[in-house]
Amino acid sequence: MSSSYEFLPVDNSTTPFWRKAPNPLLDELRTTPDLPEESDIVIIGAGYTGIATAYHLWKQLGPHDKPYPAITILEARQICSGATGRNGGHLRPDVYNNIPLYIERHGVDAAREIAEFEVSHMKALKKLLAEEDIDCDFNITRNLNVYTNEEDARKGKAVYDALVALGLGFVDDLHYTSQKNAEGVSGVKGAISCLSYTAGTLWPYKFIVGLLSKMVHSKAINVQAHTPVTSVIPQGSTHLVKTPRGSIRASKVVYASNAYTFGLLPEYSANIVPCRGICCHIDVPEGKEAPFLPYSYVIRSGDGKGSSYMITRPDGSIIVGGAHSTFQERREQWYGVVDDSTLIEPTKDYYHGFMQRTFKGWEDSGAHVKEIWTGVMAYSFDSNPHVGEVPGKPGQFICAGFTGHGMPVIFLAAKGLAEMIRDGKQFEEVHLPSLYKTTAERMKKAEEGPEGGDILEQSKH
Ligand SMILES: Cc1cc2nc3c(=O)[nH]c(=O)nc-3n(C[C@H](O)[C@H](O)[C@H](O)COP(=O)(O)OP(=O)(O)OC[C@H]3O[C@@H](n4cnc5c(N)ncnc54)[C@H](O)[C@@H]3O)c2cc1C
Repeated sequence: MSSSYEFLPVDNSTTPFWRKAPNPLLDELRTTPDLPEESDIVIIGAGYTGIATAYHLWKQLGPHDKPYPAITILEARQICSGATGRNGGHLRPDVYNNIPLYIERHGVDAAREIAEFEVSHMKALKKLLAEEDIDCDFNITRNLNVYTNEEDARKGKAVYDALVALGLGFVDDLHYTSQKNAEGVSGVKGAISCLSYTAGTLWPYKFIVGLLSKMVHSKAINVQAHTPVTSVIPQGSTHLVKTPRGSIRASKVVYASNAYTFGLLPEYSANIVPCRGICCHIDVPEGKEAPFLPYSYVIRSGDGKGSSYMITRPDGSIIVGGAHSTFQERREQWYGVVDDSTLIEPTKDYYHGFMQRTFKGWEDSGAHVKEIWTGVMAYSFDSNPHVGEVPGKPGQFICAGFTGHGMPVIFLAAKGLAEMIRDGKQFEEVHLPSLYKTTAERMKKAEEGPEGGDILEQSKH
């Protein structure tokens, strides 16, 4: 259905581990056989952003007595089949990666705001999952950033020292381990140093489908899988949301379409660029054993190639992805690519033997790649997501551009967005990091700036 529109998700995507046993009731949900003719709000996309936005809106809905749904969610493929269903399962607040860049560009307060916002997701998700009783293998652990080459280790330590010197509160959770103990603590061969902090791991598909399951019995919500939106046409104070299955009239429209947003909102083409990534699931064969790794990781390899993010599942198996520098020079493989039906050529074999060559005690484990897949991230020109009302388009809202890092950002960004949509609040009233606001200035900067901005600049490192 979606193949004649090049900006839409492809129909034959690779299958991630997380989606091997999709929820039989919800994965292809169509609340009604036909689309409703009207809805107060249409949300485009049923990933983390779309479902979290619907959840926050739904939580505050009063009794619903209208003949049409308050919220309709339109999803091009199956529920949670985009980046959320194909990610690394890593809830890793940024307490030092991009923070120095934000300090340099926008000052300490703006950078602190972002770090604290991301850190607050740890508690917010813990509370949400307990309150809603969602089982998604949520675990709280320490994320170890492990350096195995001198240059990266030196830079990592310099950033740590600079943040400590600034006395930023969130840095209290950051712990530096020097060479003496780095290998012993991390289990990574040749580790020169590591930095650790509190992080989480979860099964993203089960999280999102669990959240959706809380709302589906409400008459106020209509969900339509396999329903790609092909255009949104403003008509007076409403919008006509067009799909190959018919159109819906809506007062408000939310673009939760992540990497695919450029197809419906071409004005974001330079701001939010689809960038393909690769991820896999590694396990040991029956009868073999390997040490359980209780942490999550970002491992920078000794040759300066292939930084990988990695989590351990409760069953001891591994989800690992990244290795960007192994394919960054092959731009046709990742930059501007929305096709997640094929693997990334230079990297498809990178994770064979990864555990054996990286971790002590895994040499004879027989660990092997069981599933490998690609997914499309939405990289933002200036690294920050775009949240709020689309400039010049009243009633149209965007929440996209998470730069491969949405897990510690989206839940509360969607909460702020829901307040703007429902209560008519201004961006400044909803307590989001100021740098997230989508503005005409940010869009202009990307259009006029160097192609790719932070995306291509950071991919060199
Ligand atoms: C390989 C990979 C690994 C990652 N690892 C991590 C990680 O470990 N930690 C982390 O924090 N982040 C990670 N990310 C990023 C994270 O997954 C994203 O930031 C997050 O999932 C974005 O959620 P979303 O709902 O905005 O987008 P998506 O999950 O992509 O949802 C958008 C949805 O919109 C639908 N859609 C698009 N266009 C249309 C249309 N026209 N009509 C109808 N529907 C449409 C899509 O089909 C899709 O389902 C990773 C991403 C990838 C690809």
